[in-house]
Amino acid sequence: MEIKQEELKILYSEKEIQQKIEELALKLNDLYQDEEVTVICTLKGAVMFTTDLVRKFNFPVKMEFIRLSSYGSGTTSSGKVNAVDIKLPDLNGKNTLIIEDIIDTGLTAKFLIDFVNLNFHVKSLKFCSLLDKKISRKVDIHPDYYCFETDDKFVVGYGLDYDGYFRNLPYIAYKD
Ligand code: 5GP
Repeated sequence: MEIKQEELKILYSEKEIQQKIEELALKLNDLYQDEEVTVICTLKGAVMFTTDLVRKFNFPVKMEFIRLSSYGSGTTSSGKVNAVDIKLPDLNGKNTLIIEDIIDTGLTAKFLIDFVNLNFHVKSLKFCSLLDKKISRKVDIHPDYYCFETDDKFVVGYGLDYDGYFRNLPYIAYKD
């Protein structure tokens, strides 16, 4: 499949995304109150979502970045999670919030949750995703928070890429 920018149709506009992030930040501010939280941003896809979301937090935050890949340059999951860079500090006793761009098969989310629970005794662990493609799930994993539920379209924009392109779009789009 080849995707050209002029063929893209907007699924969620910049305004809709920012509105949802505002609502999510309110919930998380309410959840954590003044507690410190270590946010784990999964690169590269969750970068826009994470940076917009954390700027609305009013509790103390530390940010960590890890890099996983499961898609390569295609539009379907390879079914295998590749931990490109998963170095994390000591998370024992920490409130930990994982931020993902999209949960599709759920394999990446499961891998990450298992990784954190296996290596640390965190104080709390929450998982939030910008998009939830519930229909494609292969493992029984559900985000604690998500902004939009999508069907099985391959989407790009706002951090999500096709072959490295379109991450910079301020909206989320798809090709028919
Ligand atoms: P999962 O492990 O849940 O199958 O896939 C998670 C990862 O696959 C996401 O973090 C994302 O990088 C990629 N992915 C899943 N669905 C899409 C999609 O519709 N568009 C893009 N660009 N990436 C996707």
